[in-house]
Amino acid sequence: MSNELEHVHCLIIGSGPAGYTAAIYAARANLRPVLYQGIQPGGQLTITTEVENYPGYPDGVQGPEMMVEFEKQAKRMGTDIRYGLATNVDFSSRPFRVEVDEEKWILADSVIVSTGASAQWLGLESEQRLNGYGVSACAVCDGFFFKGKEVCIIGGGDTAAEEALYLSKICSTVHHFVRRGEFRASKVMQERVLNTPNIKVYWNTEVDEVLGEKTVQAVRVKNNRTGEKTVIPVSAYFVAIGHKPNSDIFKGWLEMDETGYIKTVPGSTRTNVEGVFAAGDVQDKTYRQAVTAAGSGCMAALDAERFLGTVAHQQAIPAAKAVG
Ligand code: NAP
Repeated sequence: MSNELEHVHCLIIGSGPAGYTAAIYAARANLRPVLYQGIQPGGQLTITTEVENYPGYPDGVQGPEMMVEFEKQAKRMGTDIRYGLATNVDFSSRPFRVEVDEEKWILADSVIVSTGASAQWLGLESEQRLNGYGVSACAVCDGFFFKGKEVCIIGGGDTAAEEALYLSKICSTVHHFVRRGEFRASKVMQERVLNTPNIKVYWNTEVDEVLGEKTVQAVRVKNNRTGEKTVIPVSAYFVAIGHKPNSDIFKGWLEMDETGYIKTVPGSTRTNVEGVFAAGDVQDKTYRQAVTAAGSGCMAALDAERFLGTVAHQQAIPAAKAVG
């Protein structure tokens, strides 16, 4: 058996909307993409229920079903889709080296990083059990299903403030739990929240348990000053305590901000390493929508195509001279 490492032209890491869209474009551009799906094939959308805000689905679509369609389309265009998790990288020279499942290394002429981000959760068993049944980490995705209902949100940052305001326009009451005696959010967002009559802020309050058999029925909260516990009936529980980009394996190679989001050159998906591109939530802490992730996946494939074309052109020059 040969010891030679497999050599891939365009390697895509991650299988959310960004990765699959990059794959569709890269395959159509004849870049022969290979996509590794990662630990959660389909990404964050596989843990949501109905998606109503993705254009082209007038009747809405279930998140997991939509990702199956993305995958099918990427496959039909010719993407080599594989189970497997990228566990290490070496971007010191080209071709780049990427380790899969801690057991084999492959070489890649270009890499598209679309590993996404993961919502942070409190870590309650009930939170996990009712995920998709009233428990959500995305008010923009799921708020609409709780029109006219009482809901709650956890977190004191800008995301929680923004999502509380979003929910206040749809739901009857938003119970907003903040673990300290003040917000972390910017002043302007704090003021908006505090001036919205149907957002009720609870200071020094932590969620103890999400209650409900099949769907969320209530939350039990605890005042961390007094120790007093209260049960508040709600139909949905939104958590907004931050996201963590899945960028750990790229540390030391790719430039990131202090929270681990990969930096890209504005207006492109280029990273600080020529030939490595980043798309989707791993490089976007502002929008974090399926449709924006898909858009940046398309950009990454176009950037990779341009890069590979330039490299091929540069490599072709000495060869042509030798022949001539
Ligand atoms: P963040 O600023 O890190 O805030 C996270 C919030 O969750 C904090 O209030 C934190 O409490 C709370 N929290 C963390 N763990 C918790 C736990 N176990 N239980 C209860 N509460 C917990 O995250 P973010 O709001 O997602 O924002 C991320 C970044 O994006 C920030 O830089 C933010 O300014 C920016 N952003 C900006 C906008 C905008 O400008 N429109 C919108 C969204 C996000 P503590 O305060 O006690 O630590």
